[in-house]
Amino acid sequence: MKKKIIILYLLSLVGLVGLSCREQENTPAMYDSGFTEVMGTFAHFVVVTTDEQTVRRCFDAALQECIRVDGLMSDYKSESELSVVNRSAFEKPVAVSEELYQLIETSLDYSKRTDGAFDITIGPLVDLWRKAGNMQQQPSEEELATARARVGFDKLVLDPARKTVAFAVEGMRLDLGGIAKGYAIDRAVQVMREAGIPGGLVDIGGDVRCFGTPPPGKKHWTIGLQDPQNEEDILLKLGLNDMAVATSGNYRRFVLVGQQKHSHIINPSTRDSAAGLSSVTILAPKAVDADALATAVTVLGMEKGLQLIEGIPETEAMLISSNNPEHVIRTAGTEVFIIQ
Ligand code: AMP
Ligand code: MG
Repeated sequence: MKKKIIILYLLSLVGLVGLSCREQENTPAMYDSGFTEVMGTFAHFVVVTTDEQTVRRCFDAALQECIRVDGLMSDYKSESELSVVNRSAFEKPVAVSEELYQLIETSLDYSKRTDGAFDITIGPLVDLWRKAGNMQQQPSEEELATARARVGFDKLVLDPARKTVAFAVEGMRLDLGGIAKGYAIDRAVQVMREAGIPGGLVDIGGDVRCFGTPPPGKKHWTIGLQDPQNEEDILLKLGLNDMAVATSGNYRRFVLVGQQKHSHIINPSTRDSAAGLSSVTILAPKAVDADALATAVTVLGMEKGLQLIEGIPETEAMLISSNNPEHVIRTAGTEVFIIQ
């Protein structure tokens, strides 16, 4: 299933054409790449520039960067660096690129800060629940116990000098699904900046980061938070500059086992899907952090989740609880971003 597009753009997007009337040569215009399939979802790029010549090159470079990151970090692609780790890291430590090593380290850091709610070793439990959905059968206690014994960030052995990754337990599997899109967004932003683009936006599957010059005539980038109950509706609009927004939601991506919905986000301590919050949106300067925290807060739940986010500077949360879907619960600092 394709990832939800939670964030709607309140921009009229009409392909690779300048969206504003260019009254003068040096007035910036906004260009949109349209959507392309990447990382199991759809990505789209927007740039604001006076230099039309650079636009196509910039879109291509940003997309290539997302494809490159996916080639390193996908657990679906058997030839990715991550898949090599997953196949071999129990037999022997596997040397990985600096880039993958660092993202694994960042992920471990989030595991420690969230008491293990965010855990990229979740792979065996994710697999088990996916299989349960396909077979329409609840996993047995024995299957759950076996998978759980293979999960735990404390079982991941990193060697910072050799940049190797090893598994302490057979059958472990890393899953970067909760953080890799955010990382790819940050990389694509970097590539666009290096291409000389003064302002833009990168969207992968509804997770977004905007940077630099906002659209012509605007003070900020406007991003709408979609109503999880009705995709046509926007719950609120955010005015953002140099910020990332990531949303985790268990209302669209789930497997049905009998009548019971199981989200794709698993709570390592209950071994079952994270319940309680139907949608978690995090605002942060970098997409990698927004992405990891959105997944983590979904597991932590409302109280602990809000507590965590209140303690992180320049980072805000907007939560929708499963049993009160009309109401958006926000950290205090979100106020300044809301424009409606
Ligand atoms: P997101 O859509 O960013 O919330 O990421 C969800 C994805 O993260 C899932 O599809 C899994 O690949 C992975 N995942 C599930 N549970 C966890 C967890 N507790 N910690 C880290 N990643 C997880
Ligand atoms: Mg995430």
